[in-house]
Amino acid sequence: MDSVFHGGASYKTPFVTFCSWKSDEHMNKCKNICEDTPEGRKQLTRYKDGCVRLRNPHIELMDQDILYHLALGSGSHDLQAMFGDVKYVCMGGTPKRMEQFAYFIMNEIGFKLPAGTTLLDISQYSYRYSMYKVGPVLSISHGMGIPSVGILLHEIIKLMYHARVKDPIFFRLGTCGGIGIEGGNIVITEEAVDGMGRPFLELPILGKIVHRPAKLDRDLAMELKDLATADDPWETHVGKTMCTHDFYEGQGRLDGAFCEYTERDKLNFLEKIHKDHIINMEMESLAFGALTYHAGIRSAVICVTLLNRLNGDQVSSTKEVLNEWQNRPQMLVARYIKKHLEDDKIAVELSPPSPATVKSPKKMRIVREESQSYE
Ligand code: URA
Repeated sequence: MDSVFHGGASYKTPFVTFCSWKSDEHMNKCKNICEDTPEGRKQLTRYKDGCVRLRNPHIELMDQDILYHLALGSGSHDLQAMFGDVKYVCMGGTPKRMEQFAYFIMNEIGFKLPAGTTLLDISQYSYRYSMYKVGPVLSISHGMGIPSVGILLHEIIKLMYHARVKDPIFFRLGTCGGIGIEGGNIVITEEAVDGMGRPFLELPILGKIVHRPAKLDRDLAMELKDLATADDPWETHVGKTMCTHDFYEGQGRLDGAFCEYTERDKLNFLEKIHKDHIINMEMESLAFGALTYHAGIRSAVICVTLLNRLNGDQVSSTKEVLNEWQNRPQMLVARYIKKHLEDDKIAVELSPPSPATVKSPKKMRIVREESQSYE
């Protein structure tokens, strides 16, 4: 294990090459941009006005882009009218929790719904992810594990582009196992590593292995940490997160359907990664860090620990306790959003009803039916 353990190493991807180009001019413009410099990355991921630019020359050549897993499309919906004012994208595992976060943040930022109305799951026809919009905040469920959050991130990043959103910030609000940290405390990820301790997402693309650095925004992590107070009934830690492909064997549990190691093997591993400053384990941060970084989007992962893995494997606290703990990352993120809306003097008002959000009822019906009909 030691020979392949790369915690803390830095991986360089100095120059960007694309496989296809819109035009020679586009190619010349992009070819020698050094993505390791903040300026180069900005050029690759932002238009001059700050709107999200996609690192995919194909999308703008497409007649319409169907965001299949969201049941939305650029030909069927006026995505700019619907989402152009988004500033914060908050993601978490389950539809119920993200609906609950939507109502919580609505209250926190003083967003008022007209009498007799409720929040609507914008992606209800996808039967896959749930999405709620509360003024400048999107609250979206991402499911479990890297593939699920990865697919969602592709579509949400494209949504930011179609909606011409400027400099959005993405948060993942999740749960995790603490390593040396008791249940109910918050861990903000400063660096995500895989099950081998490597700080990148490894993706096989067209038969080749591609490494995407999983970098989260350190300033954002520190600012979130500073929003914790001495009165909070939890501790807030910043540290390294191990992101695994599995909850059971992947996290060294003894209580899965299979187990081919001893309790001593498990503890040796957990104690070793703890010495390497890994303080929690979960299953999404690597893709979250890698894809947001590749898109030039500032992001943070804030998780509450459900147990201390040095003491056991089973999540055995009561439902009430677990529910209360899961509110804690939401409270910290709400403090950040409120502070920035106030500092930036962004008024949180209901946008006037826009009859133009559906561009083509026929295309919308097709997008809904397509999203519904396949597993
Ligand atoms: N989520 C995980 O991935 N692991 C845990 O131990 C708890 C929550």
